[in-house]
Amino acid sequence: MSNTTVLTGLGVSPGIGIGKSIILKRENIIIPKAKACDVSKEKYRFLEALESVKNETKSMIANSKNSFNKTKIDILNAYLMIIDDKKISSEIIHLIEEKQLNAESAVNNGFNIIIKNFELIESEYIKERAFDLLDIRDRLLRKLMNIKIKNISNLNKDTIIITKDFTLSDSLQLDFSSVNGIVSQIGGKNSHASIIARSLEIPSIFNVKNALKLINDGDTILLDGEKGEIVINPSNSELLHYKSIHSLYILNKNKLKAFKNKDCHTLDNRRIKLYANVSSPVEAKKSKENSAEGIGLFRSELIFLNRPYLPTEDEQYNIYSDISEFVDNKDVTIRTIDIGGDKFKNGLSVLNESNPSLGYRGIRICLKRPDIFKTQIRAILRANQNKNIKILLPMISSIHELRSSKNIIEEAKFELLNEGITFNKSIKVGIMIETPACAIMADTFAKECDFFSIGTNDLIQYTAAVDRNNSLVSELYSPYHPSVLRLIANTVKVAKENNIPCCLCGEMASNSLMLPVLIGLGIKSFSVSPNLLLDIKEKILNINYSKMSKISQSILNLEDEIAVEKALLKI
Ligand code: PEP
Ligand code: MG
Repeated sequence: MSNTTVLTGLGVSPGIGIGKSIILKRENIIIPKAKACDVSKEKYRFLEALESVKNETKSMIANSKNSFNKTKIDILNAYLMIIDDKKISSEIIHLIEEKQLNAESAVNNGFNIIIKNFELIESEYIKERAFDLLDIRDRLLRKLMNIKIKNISNLNKDTIIITKDFTLSDSLQLDFSSVNGIVSQIGGKNSHASIIARSLEIPSIFNVKNALKLINDGDTILLDGEKGEIVINPSNSELLHYKSIHSLYILNKNKLKAFKNKDCHTLDNRRIKLYANVSSPVEAKKSKENSAEGIGLFRSELIFLNRPYLPTEDEQYNIYSDISEFVDNKDVTIRTIDIGGDKFKNGLSVLNESNPSLGYRGIRICLKRPDIFKTQIRAILRANQNKNIKILLPMISSIHELRSSKNIIEEAKFELLNEGITFNKSIKVGIMIETPACAIMADTFAKECDFFSIGTNDLIQYTAAVDRNNSLVSELYSPYHPSVLRLIANTVKVAKENNIPCCLCGEMASNSLMLPVLIGLGIKSFSVSPNLLLDIKEKILNINYSKMSKISQSILNLEDEIAVEKALLKI
């Protein structure tokens, strides 16, 4: 009889993971509110922390000389300028002296005042870099409170991450080559962190109650990302059992390789294009290995996350040019930054919003920060040497947002022209259809943009009013909801009438019940996680379009998601 402990949760990324656990605790920075009894001591503590952060930054610059490019060194120098900015340190010292705050509260309040007013500060560096301010504030606070953070970018091999809330930021810092699995106490299947885990094929289980209580650093962990099962310190027979499941999983993956060189079409020969959703070089590589027809969604916001500074135009230009070359002239659809919601928790979203998904997000941030937006557009325009890049705008909900975005794109073109920089003027501009407002008004939008890309992850969330990241309501987040299907049907119909392409880039395409319905509704191109390209191609080859187009129309009339799922299970 085995005395191992078994936990269950929500399998968000399939596969078997075996390894040693590492507990990732995010220390909340809770500011001690005490008054400064000894003003000079608090001033000294602040200045000492500042000096230490400054020395750390200097050594980052020194260490970067060999490995970083010049742009990054320039930015680290800009970082130093902020640390040295007398306005910031005198504001904090003022708070210690006048308000008798301790160093922690003074740093926190001082930076918050500056961040709120950063538009008013003269230094261009500060105006542009709310990121830097937030990062320096947190580094100072951690120094003052002696909080050490675990370095997750350099882990031992075969590690299983155990954490309370695995975020997108974590996923970007992780050294995935060493991670065999992720266990998170909270989180849903459609969060961006789980999308990344799936796409990198890291077996992961979220929503595991008490994981941090029951798992210790260094335990042997075995997880089944399909079933959502975790075995702590498994017996030899359990290990053998899971290893055999793992072998079957690998066998199935290998079988799919036969589909790499096959054309993608339905049983009745309707051509379907398959693109990849990409946010990192690893995914780009995988999309090529699995013969994607291009990149249908490049989530550019990931370039902006987890860094203490905004990427410069040149830095972005290099990334976009590399991607455009990497795909050998195939199409690359670069989505302009879609920050907010569950992305960017520790970045530019300075305000603590109570409802972030409905708040300052996506195109809304870009239009309020045209400096950031235009820098990105200029980089994209410059990188489009091979004429294979398209611009995709996220979170559009009003025609004015499309028009304003296009104005900024035109301004960027005008600037580049005046500066004598070569670029391709006729870049295509499309929009994500991911708000009901946009899907309902698709006819209005179709007249003013070049293509649609349906983002079902958000379209479901906004149509059914269900937070895509909240496991408490995850059963309400259904791809089968007829309201969502009707919105998709309308979008596809309008795209056809207006003769513009319409791709679907949300996770819905990977649902094997929904894929035939989407094809039946008329979708002819999908952009999916690169590791699912062959799996989905195999399924498409077995779908009968003519049959599905009739069935799909009748599905639209069903009364709820339960009836839809039931009907699809019978096909
Ligand atoms: C979507 O909403 O479906 C989508 C593809 O975008 P993201 O998942 O990045 O929000
Ligand atoms: Mg979206």
